[in-house]
Amino acid sequence: MKIDEAREVRTTCPYCGVGCGVLAKVAADGQTAVRGDPDHPANFGRLCSKGSALAETIDLDGRLLYPEIHGRRTDWDEALDLVASTFSRTIAEHGRDAVAFYVSGQLLTEDYYVANKLMKGFIGSANIDTNSRLCMASSVAGHRRAFGSDTVPGSYEDLELADLIVLVGSNLAWCHPVLYQRIAAAREKRPDMKVVLVDPRRTMTADIADMHLAIAPDGDVALFTGLLAYLGQHNALDRTYITAHTSGFGQALFAASALDLAGVAAATGLGEDELVRFYSLFAATAKTVTVYSQGVNQSSSGTDKVNAIINCHLATGRIGKPGAGPFSVTGQPNAMGGREVGGLANMLAAHMEIENPEHRDRVQRFWSAPTVAENPGLKAVEMFQAVADGRIKALWIMATNPVDSMPDADAVEAAIKACPFVVVSDVLAKTDTVRHAHVRLPAAAWGEKDGSVTNSERRISRQRAFLPVPGEARADWWIVDEVAKRMGFAEAFSHPSPAEIFAEHAALSAFENDGARDFDIGAYAGVDAEDYDALVPFQWPAPSPGTPLWPAGHLPLKGGDRMSPPISPIADVAEKALQGKLPISPLEGEMAGRPEGGAWRRPEVKSSRFFASGGFYTPDRKARFIAIRPTIETRTSPDHPLVLNTGRVRDHWHTMTRTGKSPRLSQHLAEPFAEIHPLDAQHFGIGDADIVSVSTADGEVLVRALVTARQRPGSVFVPMHWTDQFSARARVDALVAPITDAVSGQPASKHVAARVERF
Ligand code: SF4
Repeated sequence: MKIDEAREVRTTCPYCGVGCGVLAKVAADGQTAVRGDPDHPANFGRLCSKGSALAETIDLDGRLLYPEIHGRRTDWDEALDLVASTFSRTIAEHGRDAVAFYVSGQLLTEDYYVANKLMKGFIGSANIDTNSRLCMASSVAGHRRAFGSDTVPGSYEDLELADLIVLVGSNLAWCHPVLYQRIAAAREKRPDMKVVLVDPRRTMTADIADMHLAIAPDGDVALFTGLLAYLGQHNALDRTYITAHTSGFGQALFAASALDLAGVAAATGLGEDELVRFYSLFAATAKTVTVYSQGVNQSSSGTDKVNAIINCHLATGRIGKPGAGPFSVTGQPNAMGGREVGGLANMLAAHMEIENPEHRDRVQRFWSAPTVAENPGLKAVEMFQAVADGRIKALWIMATNPVDSMPDADAVEAAIKACPFVVVSDVLAKTDTVRHAHVRLPAAAWGEKDGSVTNSERRISRQRAFLPVPGEARADWWIVDEVAKRMGFAEAFSHPSPAEIFAEHAALSAFENDGARDFDIGAYAGVDAEDYDALVPFQWPAPSPGTPLWPAGHLPLKGGDRMSPPISPIADVAEKALQGKLPISPLEGEMAGRPEGGAWRRPEVKSSRFFASGGFYTPDRKARFIAIRPTIETRTSPDHPLVLNTGRVRDHWHTMTRTGKSPRLSQHLAEPFAEIHPLDAQHFGIGDADIVSVSTADGEVLVRALVTARQRPGSVFVPMHWTDQFSARARVDALVAPITDAVSGQPASKHVAARVERF
């Protein structure tokens, strides 16, 4: 790629699911500078500490630059031939389900698309799953149960338009900082806006909250079923909406009424007075957004938690309207893109369903594939168990580090070590996973490759290269294409560039889609290299092939859409406000100041759009209430009396392979720690800054004690980032039991029975 030193390149941040726009520039002296893109609709110029430090993390130290077989440098042909021949032979000898791909929310959509196409359509197995399983699978399952589709109904603007934001299991201030900043800025302009935080820990996010509900671990189902019962008892339902647009309300309300207020208080560890204050605030505030993240998803009851939240929004008709709706925020930069292409083992491409024979037939015909997987494949935890017991004999891991990040990480490492054939394509040469690979394939990194990503509000943005590709690294989509060609599928895997893959992906989303499927970007099916290069961020659906997409020279498609059934009186109020008849949008001043006709415009704010013509994506076009009975699960025991909760810190990302390079980022929290409440510290004889052993039935870490009243008594928090590379015996995922949600398969990484002792 030719570097134009005078030109800033528009791309997006490779970290969290906020999907901030970044302007990157390489100066004449080779130094890279990054800044927030003032015109990107996710961040309007803001960046958090991680995004701001991106330029400090892109050196070539530790990079995997050449293909290797058993640690010996080789050329691409030999490596690709070996991968293709070994996968083909394994399939011939043991069947197509004897191979698997474990991929990543760090992949770009084009990478993800071809990997899924190869496994599901040409190998004919659904054994492709992703580390996004650890991040948001419960939200996917909850959306599909309620809406008949994996649809996030709202937009980030709703966080600024809401009168009440309920943050559940989300340390937004550290994990999605730019969304937190947007809420904080909106609140400054509109001080009446209320924020409630539901989290066992008093995180930094509590600083913005009017109310912090320090809920017991996994008390969320009881909290939100209790809310549904309260709404029913206090005449706070939108009965017109329930009748017109939903089914199953009676059963859901009946199930939710299993606990009275005292029962909910016991199950949540909250006081009855706290509950009533929260419930009455929710009941009285039409414009409420409930934002939820890993504290909801990473649970053995994660899908029920999601549906318990959605139930409350359906019951009040608060969904897909300006300033109202349930809102799942994803952890990874392209978890959403992975969902779109079918990167989960239980989904097909373009949000089609693997269990649906019509969908399978449609995808197979579109791809001209020899077959298509008929049954869901192995989800992440199951996949590594199948590697361990020998069912999976050839495994390809792309852009992720499961030896550190999977639950039961020691067992995962042992499984990978024992697997007959392991391929890892990665940017780095020495992660804990790469070192066990028989074949190492050097992948291009952020800044070196082109593609697209989708953020938490369904907004698709381009990532663009601005650095030369070092050594012999290649884009992941190219590597997959080359292996597929060598397996005999050249016709379907000869994409000249990511633009053609994106166009194919867009065409599939529209293929025989008469509005019955939510994911539709058919308007981009005809994109060529020039259009792709100029693509501006847009939200899906973008379903009108006849719509001129780039009038006046590559201007954006309309955006800011919400997906909802027909507008009700609440939305009418907001609609008037958005037309300037009521003061409602805190950003109006900023919007007015934006140049019109620039390369990227802030999308116009839309009041709402239908989920599909006539309603949701269920057979009867009605959203489904899910009947959920609150259950209490106790995992602690006399041997392991505390609940271990794992999560992120502000300045590091995943297993620190990138952020660990920045001394500035490491200054915030320089070493791993165990946050423990003063009462527990006293009980276990632990002083602040003592080295402690945190152990579970599955493993042990040694970290420094951080005694703080921010922690809930009876719990201990250990961050997820530090691996043995950075701090001896700090790999917290070795402690996490492989317990998963029965519906979504997402691991329960926030509720593990543990003990803490002074070392
Ligand atoms: Fe934005 Fe997330 Fe990147 Fe921070 S880490 S700059 S919030 S995308």
